[in-house]
Amino acid sequence: MALPKPIVIGNWKMNGLRADSIARVEALLARLRDAPGRGTLGICPPATVLAVLEPLLRTGAMLLGGQDCSSKPSGAYTGDISAAMLKDAGCHAVIVGHSERRLGHGESDALVRAKAEAALAAGLMPILCIGESEDQWQAGRTLEVLDRQLEGSLPAGASADNLIVAYEPVWAIGTGRTPGQDDILRTHTHLRRHVGELALLYGGSVKSTNAGEIMAVADVDGALVGGASLDAEEFWAIYTAGQAAGAGSRAVSGAT
Ligand code: PEP
Repeated sequence: MALPKPIVIGNWKMNGLRADSIARVEALLARLRDAPGRGTLGICPPATVLAVLEPLLRTGAMLLGGQDCSSKPSGAYTGDISAAMLKDAGCHAVIVGHSERRLGHGESDALVRAKAEAALAAGLMPILCIGESEDQWQAGRTLEVLDRQLEGSLPAGASADNLIVAYEPVWAIGTGRTPGQDDILRTHTHLRRHVGELALLYGGSVKSTNAGEIMAVADVDGALVGGASLDAEEFWAIYTAGQAAGAGSRAVSGAT
């Protein structure tokens, strides 16, 4: 089933030991209990803390996701984690194609597609990341790059019920810089024509101070949040800003 919007997901990256991870999740759960509202709040913590967080999230109050998965179901792949293992650990979703994997680990569109397919096969919802580099942005090649990434990495059978797309300009990740509202509108309107009803998140330096204006843009259904998701107060403020902005509740433009 398609997730309620706004969809705000925290990517903790390589941050979080057991004690601070539990404290952060408990703080978010307390806020959700007090003011649930409409939407989906999720976290993608490191794999090492999934087992300690899963019991806290068994009620389904928050979505639990992995940060990456192998394209292979099992076998001699030291250090890798399969989609079935994430599912078994209590995950509902998994990020694939994050730029820190595409660039830092040389992941191609074809590999990202294979990972998304493995996730779907295991019953996980892939959160498929795409985004242009700074040079491509400067050269006005954003839409062309996104089209190529989508074409190469979106798995067959993707639907609003089983996959989310996250547009994350590489130059905006962890830099404090974001595209303007007009730029995000242009990009998301373009992406909407390609992905129909799939949820479209924006990611890249989302904070409580800009979350409302970003999620007020048409066709932005929520946000993928890195650094700011490590602070429960800040992450909660981002989520409530998305709710107040009505992200995902407007009619989508040009959806097929
Ligand atoms: C991310 O890494 O997915 C991300 C959006 O990071 P940040 O919010 O820190 O820019």
